Amino acid sequence: MAFTYQVSQPYLTGREQEYLTEAVSSGWISSQGPFVGRFEEQFAEYNEYAHGVACSSGTTALTLALRALGIGPGDEVIVPEFTMIASAWAVTYTGATPVFIDCADDLNMDVELLESKITARTKAIMPVHIYGRRCEMDAIMKIAYEYNLRVIEDSAEAHGVRPVADIACFSLFANKIISAGEGGVCVTNDRHLAEQMAHLRGMAFSREHDFIHKKLAYNFRMTNLQAAVALAQLEKLDEILEIRKRIEAHYDAGLEGIEGLTKLPPRDVLWMYDIRAERRDDLRESLAVDGIETRLFFQPMSRQPMYLDPVWPSLNATRFASDGLYLPTYTGLTEGDQDRIIAKIRQFYKAD
Ligand SMILES: *Cc1c(COP(=O)(O)O)cnc(C)c1O
Repeated sequence: MAFTYQVSQPYLTGREQEYLTEAVSSGWISSQGPFVGRFEEQFAEYNEYAHGVACSSGTTALTLALRALGIGPGDEVIVPEFTMIASAWAVTYTGATPVFIDCADDLNMDVELLESKITARTKAIMPVHIYGRRCEMDAIMKIAYEYNLRVIEDSAEAHGVRPVADIACFSLFANKIISAGEGGVCVTNDRHLAEQMAHLRGMAFSREHDFIHKKLAYNFRMTNLQAAVALAQLEKLDEILEIRKRIEAHYDAGLEGIEGLTKLPPRDVLWMYDIRAERRDDLRESLAVDGIETRLFFQPMSRQPMYLDPVWPSLNATRFASDGLYLPTYTGLTEGDQDRIIAKIRQFYKAD
């Protein structure tokens, strides 16, 4: 079904075409081209980190980060219940075990529960800034320091939130705040970790290129074509964040005082405008008829068939999954578009 208002659309109003043409004209289309290094350097600088390592997706960024930190079989990594499956999968890919932690009322990992999840096997914590809300990083970093744990920030949904962890991983998928179509990038201040991630990303070739490979590695490289688009997007990031701030404020004002809707706390950057709704499934259907696409919230990790917890604990994350949805949220969305979406929601709840 074609929606008039999709939940997400890329915003390609900068120098994407120019850089892409430059990349194609130069003949550099593989990961060897100069845009990759330029993007890595500027992305790291934007985030006030020393090193950037570009790769093929947010998922592979997380995998590289975990592997570079030496996490593997027998280790545990604390991952939120309420997140996209890739956060947990990255841990599973390394052979380590994800240990799930419920969310608080801002949908982010509940820091109060953090210490209760730490065991002798715990090696790292993976906070995820859900829908653009920054996790309580001070508290998380303090606990990590006390227990000598590494921290990997899953910043896939939070470009513009300055990371503080050992490694932060971003996604450049088409629905994220900035995009390269597909892509990912890690930032770190540790030169050794950056080198490890770059090494693992590119099949662990030896310096001598003698085809002796000492590690199980990957082809997780980003092409120069993707990096050309990513760099143009990065140049626009501040502007994109400003526009999205206005989108958030306009939804906030328009959806004020509707009985049946519950707002969530404000975001640090807007990825998706999330809200809790009574009769959510009926609302979704009614909006879809009017050409407005919405998306459900994430399902808790311990409800996923592959991570199914037979104890079936009562979770905050389950509550949110049962009545949460997000509205069309993209940088090109106009106030007029938003007004039409808001009017339909008001109509549904008879809140005119
Ligand atoms: C999108 C996303 C990912 C995965 O990124 P891809 O580029 O799609 O692999 C990981 N974690 C979170 C929280 C995400 O939203």
